[in-house]
Amino acid sequence: MRKRLFNVGAILQGLSITFGFMFKKRPTIEYPSVKKQHAPRFHGLHELRRYGDAKERCIGCELCSSACPANAITVIGAENTPEDRKSPGERYAARYEIDELRCIFCGLCEEACPTDAIVLTPRFEMADYRRGSFIYSKDRLLVPPDAGVGAAPDDRPGGIPSDLGRVAEIKSTTDVEEGYSATHRGEILKTERRGLAG
Ligand code: SF4
Ligand code: SF4
Repeated sequence: MRKRLFNVGAILQGLSITFGFMFKKRPTIEYPSVKKQHAPRFHGLHELRRYGDAKERCIGCELCSSACPANAITVIGAENTPEDRKSPGERYAARYEIDELRCIFCGLCEEACPTDAIVLTPRFEMADYRRGSFIYSKDRLLVPPDAGVGAAPDDRPGGIPSDLGRVAEIKSTTDVEEGYSATHRGEILKTERRGLAG
């Protein structure tokens, strides 16, 4: 009898929590028209930044790639030439790819970068159906020259919402399958598959 009463008490205690929540204000956010404000140090999608004169900050040194614990970054550097100077240093990143599916958003790449080229932004909208679309190549990571060069994402004119729009625009105009085949990682994966098939 005492055990039964204990069970009823436990059920009533559980229901009291449910009823308590029924009369509380719901913290529902009308996403996507309203976006949640993340913590200031939230780590989201990467971005490659430029200097104020629109030159690329990245010097293709591969330190970010070495520091990455998830082996998510591929950098292939090349020499700048006097006719075509992409960065202030001797070298620039001819190819720069991040596999966001491998990334654990730890921020070590940002810490390792000597020129503050690679940063993690507060952007979180990356959902897609195809694996290839998660390999972000330089054309999707590098900020366009008119997007607030040299400024942190939060300080840019228009702030983050316009940046989200920019990413969506780039994604919608990118041929994802072609983009994947064109990436260095795509080539590696295709080679591995061929090896497995053989
Ligand atoms: S955030 Fe971490 S896991 Fe992601 S690319 Fe940078 S170093 Fe690698
Ligand atoms: S993002 Fe930074 S660490 Fe990575 S290759 Fe470029 S300059 Fe080097």
